[in-house]
Amino acid sequence: MTNIKLVDKWKKILGLNEYRTYLDIITKEEMIEENKLAYNGVCLYCNEKKLIIIKVINPTERTIIHELLHVKYQDYSENKIEKLTIKYMKDVKKGVI
Ligand SMILES: [Zn+2]
Repeated sequence: MTNIKLVDKWKKILGLNEYRTYLDIITKEEMIEENKLAYNGVCLYCNEKKLIIIKVINPTERTIIHELLHVKYQDYSENKIEKLTIKYMKDVKKGVI
């Protein structure tokens, strides 16, 4: 599945279809500039404009789910988002999703 199809798949599952989404693949150096830390991804979003910009070093299904979960559950901690990511990835591996 292409990256864009993966993003569309997960926007649909998470009910984020009304958002326009841009996926940016960046280098580790650019990521460090972006947020001072070597995360795998960062997600910038605007609820008013219904806009999501996902910047990732390696666009795997896992990183895409993780970043979109930040938009879906905006008040969740990083820890909670990561736990949910793991849960969804288990469903993917089981073939449920
Ligand atoms: Zn995160």
